[in-house]
Amino acid sequence: MFKKLKSIMTLMKSIDFEQVEKISKKVDLGEVLGAVSKMDERQLQMAMKMLTGSKKKRVPPPINADFYEVEAKLSPEDRALQLKIRDFLEKEVKPIVNKYWLRDEFPFELIPKLAELNVCGYVFEGYGCAGGTSLMDGIIASEFGRIDPSIATFLGVQSGLAMGSIYRCGSEAQKQEWLPPMQRLEKIGAFGLTEPLVGSGTAGGLTTTCKHTDAGWILNGQKKWIGNSTFSDITIIWARDLDDNQVKGFIVRKENPGFSVEKIKDKMALRIVQNGLITLTDCLVPETDRLPYANTFKDTVEVLRMTRAGVAWMAVGCARGAYENALEYTLQREQFGKPIASFQLIQNHLVEMLSNLTAMQTLVFRLSELQDEDKLKDEHASLAKVFCTLRTRDIVSRAREVMGGNGILLEYNVARFLADAEAIYSYEGTKEINSLIVGRSITGHSAFV
Ligand code: FAD
Repeated sequence: MFKKLKSIMTLMKSIDFEQVEKISKKVDLGEVLGAVSKMDERQLQMAMKMLTGSKKKRVPPPINADFYEVEAKLSPEDRALQLKIRDFLEKEVKPIVNKYWLRDEFPFELIPKLAELNVCGYVFEGYGCAGGTSLMDGIIASEFGRIDPSIATFLGVQSGLAMGSIYRCGSEAQKQEWLPPMQRLEKIGAFGLTEPLVGSGTAGGLTTTCKHTDAGWILNGQKKWIGNSTFSDITIIWARDLDDNQVKGFIVRKENPGFSVEKIKDKMALRIVQNGLITLTDCLVPETDRLPYANTFKDTVEVLRMTRAGVAWMAVGCARGAYENALEYTLQREQFGKPIASFQLIQNHLVEMLSNLTAMQTLVFRLSELQDEDKLKDEHASLAKVFCTLRTRDIVSRAREVMGGNGILLEYNVARFLADAEAIYSYEGTKEINSLIVGRSITGHSAFV
């Protein structure tokens, strides 16, 4: 009896008596009270739940995109660096990227701030570089991708493709001249392999040529899609030697006679990245600017192997950024009087996203461990590139879907990832080309042509 009285008192407390007058015009309150007094304990509890339930705000669990705690494997120093980079990106990059993405422009004001992070050429030894692990290099790429895949790509080109070519294939004098200022982002680099008519088929089909003369090397041809090239100080140009038919690499300075760049406009992905169409017309390059250890396409592939692993990590970041933003949105957005995150069909999307993201994270972790153990093969990097960029496309698409119409608005921070995932999927070897590399490795049959 006492328990029932207590329940009735609690129920009465939940009633807003200022509303009672209004309510009394609509219902017979005496009849309602009579009915309430006849209720048993369970019925009273249910009535209380109905009256008070909608007022209770559930506190959602914190968003955790590292579901299998792979980051717990980082050393305390690496974890601190990761969080420092994350903090920088949240504060300095996130607030401005949509504006620049929309304008198809690069935020040059970020360059000195990026330099302070000291992450360029992170894995290289000497020349002002950190000499860090590939694992941490991947984490860095992922953190950048999580906030903006364009800025991540800018760094990937500078740090991996351009610095990587010089570090791997350059002379000591070239390394001394270029790597320290590139590490400090005082000099910017680009990497020119793809051509207007030759993309996937660069291995055997480069049409850009080089010819040795008494005055130096003469380069002729065009390079398409070259990231950073509209403002870079140097571009690594890969060209076929007319004398021995082998691919050679050159450091081409922006002031070299015969070198010109035209910006590629109107992209629908990675709009912050400044891609250029380079034309080389009897472009004279001195012998001192030829990369002495880039003498066949195999040397180019060595550089790409390192950077493909980085692209896989960047895709993980892109997917994570989209997942986190989408999850947060579904927790806030209400339809039918409830957060949409409480609907089964929405949770299915969220779980599909997290499953793929977790699989990607664990895969790239092992990939980098292989790299740090010096066991990375082309097919390892290609498999990671294929899997991560393919799954990222699925994740960003679901992220957009659970956000309804707002999913296509830049300000909700998923639309940019959706678009950018398309470019990441295609560059540094398409899905087909990287699949063929893995296919050749597992079957022993090359199916390229
Ligand atoms: P294509 O080679 O014409 O391919 C078209 C389609 O055919 C693809 O689906 C491809 O997979 C398929 N295909 C081709 N061959 C086969 C085959 N044998 N079997 C089955 N399918 C096949 N390049 C640089 O050198 N430096 C850069 O900095 C750079 N940055 C880039 C940035 C962006 C945003 C983009 C989009 C590209 C960039 N690229 C860069 C170029 C990029 O690497 C190429 O776009 C990519 O290698 C694909 O070449 P392609 O676009 O010419 O496509």
